[in-house]
Amino acid sequence: MRIVRTDITIAAPPQTVWSILDDLDRYGEWNRVLPRAAGFTTAGRRLDASIRFSNGVSHEFGPLLLRVVGARELRWVSEVPGEEVTRAEHYFILTPTADGGTHLEHCESFTGPLEDEMWPLMEQAGRADYIALNEALKARAEAAVAAPEAAALHPALPLARERASPGAVSVLRCRCPQDTVEVHVDAPAVHSHLCGCTQCWKPEGALFALTAVVPADAVKTVAHGEKLAVVDASKAIRRHACKACGAHMHGEVCDTDHHFFGLAFIHPELGSEASPAPEFAGFVSSIIESGVSPTRMVGIRRALGDQGIAACDAFSPEIMDLIAWHRIKLARAARA
Ligand SMILES: [Zn+2]
Ligand SMILES: [Zn+2]
Repeated sequence: MRIVRTDITIAAPPQTVWSILDDLDRYGEWNRVLPRAAGFTTAGRRLDASIRFSNGVSHEFGPLLLRVVGARELRWVSEVPGEEVTRAEHYFILTPTADGGTHLEHCESFTGPLEDEMWPLMEQAGRADYIALNEALKARAEAAVAAPEAAALHPALPLARERASPGAVSVLRCRCPQDTVEVHVDAPAVHSHLCGCTQCWKPEGALFALTAVVPADAVKTVAHGEKLAVVDASKAIRRHACKACGAHMHGEVCDTDHHFFGLAFIHPELGSEASPAPEFAGFVSSIIESGVSPTRMVGIRRALGDQGIAACDAFSPEIMDLIAWHRIKLARAARA
């Protein structure tokens, strides 16, 4: 067996490096050695790909994926048929480093009768081209982990950590310049947070929604309620949105057993009172479901950290504990 071995250290975590390797559709943007790879990265599937060495040799090939270990290993094999098959195994092994980066091994091993014939190409152009790929991958990953501006998270950020004025009635107004829907909220908004889920209303260009809860009985629609419609009646939270501008005005929970029963979700940025600063960001990874590239996630989590906002993948630990306790209460009530 002969092996081309290359490696590089990248100042970005394996998650980010992997997200680039795993985004086959975008190989052409950065990868001139493997400018095209189509398919689905699951072990046992075949890709449809092109490889172009700098000495002019190029092939269309259909490698079989052997290992797809998220954020750790990608390995495929190409076989040249014959009486005895020649196998070329191309693999990337990502190892987290102590300082939060990645050590990448990028290798290709050859076995079989054509091994000697292939070796001069691989040892010269192949090695140099794989080193170039590593450098391009490093540049792309390191650029991706820079934190975006706070305003990209949500245009209302950064928000001062001020208390809502006690007793103040906040008037939420939809975004319509006329016949504006108006909702009065006679209680301070609490548990303010950013939400990355695909249900909550996000203003144009925002990665997250800014939302908070109030007691449901404190919410009254006082003008143009006829413009409100429930966004999706199948969801636990009945979000009422303005049919004209799309702003979500309030969302209540109808199921009396639900852990959020009695509460309404509002978007304090629509209100007349200062928006309370977010205490955490919930459902952060869900922004990938709304089209954000996984390659941006580390930078986005860094931007949240820069604002002192803990990134959670459901709700904050405080709320998750309340929900878990709620389940116990339900189970005890069912037994009683
Ligand atoms: Zn409106
Ligand atoms: Zn949400």
